[in-house]
Amino acid sequence: MSKSQSSSGLQQPSQPFITKVGKFFEGLKENKLLGTKCKKCGTTYFPPRVDCAKCLTDEMEWIELSGEGELATFTVNTTPPESFSKYGTYIIGIVKLNDGPPVMTWLKDVKPEDVKVGMKLKIEFIESPELGIKYSFVPVD
Ligand SMILES: [Zn+2]
Repeated sequence: MSKSQSSSGLQQPSQPFITKVGKFFEGLKENKLLGTKCKKCGTTYFPPRVDCAKCLTDEMEWIELSGEGELATFTVNTTPPESFSKYGTYIIGIVKLNDGPPVMTWLKDVKPEDVKVGMKLKIEFIESPELGIKYSFVPVD
């Protein structure tokens, strides 16, 4: 399957991609985790997509995700990059959201000896320019 790149002069109402996903970052400022949902088949996407991978439509709408889910898989990294070095060993996990797609994230406040698949997690919004991330997931107690 290849998509033709040729421009036939059609007037397509194309918004720049950056404008569309920009809403995602606006949402984070308000402590909202935004994804997109296909208006046709209902598939949800995170990170947000501007078109649906299943039915190839661009009729997408923004949805707010709960930010709660459970751990699907994880990697314990004992050699963090420099920006994470003060945290020592860190864990990167994939959280399956209750109401949406899987999210790859740093698992803050989870010790390597405590991490396990299926544990309940929720989002925590953080402001950390040095890490370049806006959120992590922490255990639900
Ligand atoms: Zn779809």
